Amino acid sequence: MRERIQVAREGRDAGDEARQRLPFPESAPRDPDFYDYCGAVHVHSTYSDGAGTVKQVAEAANEAGLDFVILNDHATLQPRTDGQDGWHGRTLVMVGTEVGTDAGHLLVLDVPDSFLPSSGSATNDQQRILESGGIGFIALPCDLKDHWRDFSARLPGIGLEVFNLSAIARTKINLPALAMIWRRYNGKKPERAFHLVSARPTAELRLWDSMMQPARVGEPYEPVVAIGSLDAHAVMKFAGRSYPFPTYHEVFRTLRTHVLLDHALKGVMGTKAGADHSGPDQKSVHSAIRSGHCYIAYDNYGDSTGFVFKAVAGDDKRFLMGDSLEITPGESPIRLIATAPRSRSFVRLYRDGKLIATARGGRLEHTVTQPGAYRVEVFVYRRRIGSLCLGSKPWIFSNPIYLQPCNLNASLAGEAKDTSRRYHTS
Ligand SMILES: [Zn+2]
Repeated sequence: MRERIQVAREGRDAGDEARQRLPFPESAPRDPDFYDYCGAVHVHSTYSDGAGTVKQVAEAANEAGLDFVILNDHATLQPRTDGQDGWHGRTLVMVGTEVGTDAGHLLVLDVPDSFLPSSGSATNDQQRILESGGIGFIALPCDLKDHWRDFSARLPGIGLEVFNLSAIARTKINLPALAMIWRRYNGKKPERAFHLVSARPTAELRLWDSMMQPARVGEPYEPVVAIGSLDAHAVMKFAGRSYPFPTYHEVFRTLRTHVLLDHALKGVMGTKAGADHSGPDQKSVHSAIRSGHCYIAYDNYGDSTGFVFKAVAGDDKRFLMGDSLEITPGESPIRLIATAPRSRSFVRLYRDGKLIATARGGRLEHTVTQPGAYRVEVFVYRRRIGSLCLGSKPWIFSNPIYLQPCNLNASLAGEAKDTSRRYHTS
């Protein structure tokens, strides 16, 4: 039976011992309401310019302990036509695509085959994604090499690839850094080489925070889903030669997107690959991504499974990251709670991109009374001296909870803050 780290409510899964492994003896409280599945997004195979076949990708994902992997080969959905999606062992393979447009690259998930060929127009392609019920992300928003060029061309409902490991690595790599990476990579703990590129993408985070802001005071915040992508090819080209670095297996253990579901995936219950359930299971993962019920984590610093960021309203109603709920400014406070499965960590709470609270010990609880796009970042650290956390590293990034202003009509009569939507890319 498939082993699965889980946070399931006690008793709900009686007899399902597969979900009872608790990997964190020192863990902070774990949320009982959600199933946490981790995956790799934006992976290229031999269907485009990746080095491995889908079978090899799936094998690497199995070894790395991934629950799902999303292929985004350039301008093709052929792996799905060829029946390559579905359960491969413990990993659910899902097939999306990546298309080039006049403004940059779009990651596309959950669209029918008729979506291709792409029109090449950013506006047109986004419209077609949304009309077909698919999911779209602006890829490589601030990349040094191939960034998105026109944010005014972005349509509401299209998300942002806030993390793209390849793009982040490009900002970190220079000759001294390359030498250090190479030394670590060939040392006793090669996985530590990836710590050197596991960074907080400052420009992308700032851009994301600005995209969610209402155009005017009192107007609703715009949900913008963030994902963490690898842009994995398992090959690196340098000075006209190709090197098999980094491998799928290596990057699959680094940056992951975790989805939270209120039910278990069906294909993981038994010993069979679960092909019968791959349709509904893919739907569940897509639905969690579409809703922003997902977070991004550098799992090379420790398995983040079990992390939750949620809001509890006055009537004890619970909301998960990605959700929107109304708040009356100054009244009916709402509790925001974040728990991370490691006590040597601190949690930072941001409102509209501004830091408003920090807590140590893997748990933050903060009461708020103002509308805002609230999100958290969790950092792990090695040692603490007093209030000083030494050797801290960026670990987990939640999607936001949107506390929308109540009584919109009354608020709209107020003074306009800004009539144009501005995005900050630097
Ligand atoms: Zn790509």
